[in-house]
Amino acid sequence: MSSVRTPVVALAGGIGAARFLRGLVRVVDPTQITAVVNTGDDRNFYGVHVSPDIDIVLYSLAGCADREKGFGLEGDTFRLIEALGALGHETWFRLGDRDFATCQHRTLRLAEGAGLAAVTDEIRRAFGVATKLLPMSEDPCPSIIVLGAGTRVHFEEYLVRDGAPSDVEAVDLSAATRAAPGPGVVDALRSAGTILVCPSNPVVSIGPILAVPGVREAIAASGAPVVAVSPIVGGAPVKGPADALLRGVGAEVSARGVARLYADLVSGYVLDQRDHAELADVESLGIRAVSVDTLMRDVGVAAELARTVLSLADTLR
Ligand code: GDP
Repeated sequence: MSSVRTPVVALAGGIGAARFLRGLVRVVDPTQITAVVNTGDDRNFYGVHVSPDIDIVLYSLAGCADREKGFGLEGDTFRLIEALGALGHETWFRLGDRDFATCQHRTLRLAEGAGLAAVTDEIRRAFGVATKLLPMSEDPCPSIIVLGAGTRVHFEEYLVRDGAPSDVEAVDLSAATRAAPGPGVVDALRSAGTILVCPSNPVVSIGPILAVPGVREAIAASGAPVVAVSPIVGGAPVKGPADALLRGVGAEVSARGVARLYADLVSGYVLDQRDHAELADVESLGIRAVSVDTLMRDVGVAAELARTVLSLADTLR
């Protein structure tokens, strides 16, 4: 592959980002990669601070994620929340015992006055992960989903408790728009050699990161090529409620629809070969596009996808 301009900074949500980053670290020196991770899904459960996107990215890069569930640690047990359930607590948010320990550690360190960025870095080192993970913000930025009857629910309530109903009317990211960028985020973006947008949910994973003041400006100031990977494969999300959320913000559920959302941000776009018919529409937005297999069934496909993304970035300098 042609030369990769480092450092590489990736905007990341949860599972789609986790899969992609596992491939990227095979292709680029992991110490030269920084992921800026969505914290719009963060919430307190059972008295501990849960950062779902940071944790799935971390566990995946550490090689210990539960890939079947798409959250938590492989082989984890659920005795703690089962015991809480027996005591009458609501336990719709599944949190494994060792996963709980990660969150408990985070909570204790935050209570001691450490910031979320510093705690995330400590946890990453403890898991032996070389790639830096930066929370998009240390301020609370809950992503709120507005449903049909005007009901407002936190994203985790929408997704896990309510089973992602389709009657989404709007998505409220106003908390993110008032948040300060996390320590290191603006500097990492400004000095990036290449910026990538992982195949994550555009509305509730990438949307909140871009909503944080200073993030878009730092991306523009970097002068680096920005390449996104479509999270839509064959006209539908691979996993999760991106279809209902895209409709909820008035966007088309397609690779082309996501490219339109990113049109003022990216200069390159990788869409799935199953959506190849939309390539010309993406290019008509002034974005250079390539179609390949983006369904990351295994880390080999993810690494090949990462190579394609970086080659495209190289042509955009
Ligand atoms: P979440 O916070 O765990 O939902 O994580 P993300 O926002 O990172 O991921 C959700 C998005 O990832 C969905 O829109 C999926 O379609 C996308 N995704 C998951 N796996 C793949 C894959 O193998 N290929 C592609 N192209 N997208 C994927």
